[in-house]
Amino acid sequence: MDLMDRAAGSVRLGVFGGSFDPLHVGHLAVAQDVLEALDLDRVLFVPARRSPHKSEAPHASGEHRLRMVRDATRGDPRFEVSGMELRREEPSFTVDTLRELAKERPGARLFLILGADQWAGFGRWHQPREITRLAELVVMSREGDRPTAVDPGLENGDDGSLRAREVSVVRLDVSSTHLRRRIFEGRTVRYLVPDPVRRIIERENLYSQKSP
Ligand code: ATP
Repeated sequence: MDLMDRAAGSVRLGVFGGSFDPLHVGHLAVAQDVLEALDLDRVLFVPARRSPHKSEAPHASGEHRLRMVRDATRGDPRFEVSGMELRREEPSFTVDTLRELAKERPGARLFLILGADQWAGFGRWHQPREITRLAELVVMSREGDRPTAVDPGLENGDDGSLRAREVSVVRLDVSSTHLRRRIFEGRTVRYLVPDPVRRIIERENLYSQKSP
């Protein structure tokens, strides 16, 4: 922990983007692990309108995905949700989100939370250098995996290389793709998504029509 930061009163905010199509227990558990490991004040979930890295558009609407994340995190003061990417044009560039957040919350220290898969392609993201200027990069590695090719504890390399700090998170083998498939097959997702998410899926009949 950075004591100078605390003294200055700056909020340590994790930024966790994704499709959340639907949000599942893996998302919540890893967000919690990063929050604890880096002593963050909060993690902000930012559902993407459309990820520039995914070939397909999300299955559920932005409105439904936002509601699922909102309802699932409502009871936990460590988690916040922003619909800013859903209000912007697609594709959802992370650099624009961080710029908007920096303006919205001056003085906050931003930590961009990335999966190891996202980190592997990070150099090809839109304006990666600007992203590292706006936020510290955090790469999640699943417990038991060999460390990814990053230097833990380092942020921006003086040599110009991109660096991230690595945080080990719980290994939960669940993905939104897997959950959509289960729903399409008529199987339950109880215990794999928070109950408020399951209620929205059932009420709105999400993921049952289109093959995942
Ligand atoms: P999909 O299967 O539709 O690609 P996803 O759950 O893998 O969905 P997103 O909803 O975009 O992906 O999730 C955002 C990020 O959360 C991902 O980039 C991934 O790094 C991370 N993530 C998702 N599921 C897990 C999990 N079970 N454990 C650790 N990290 C996860």
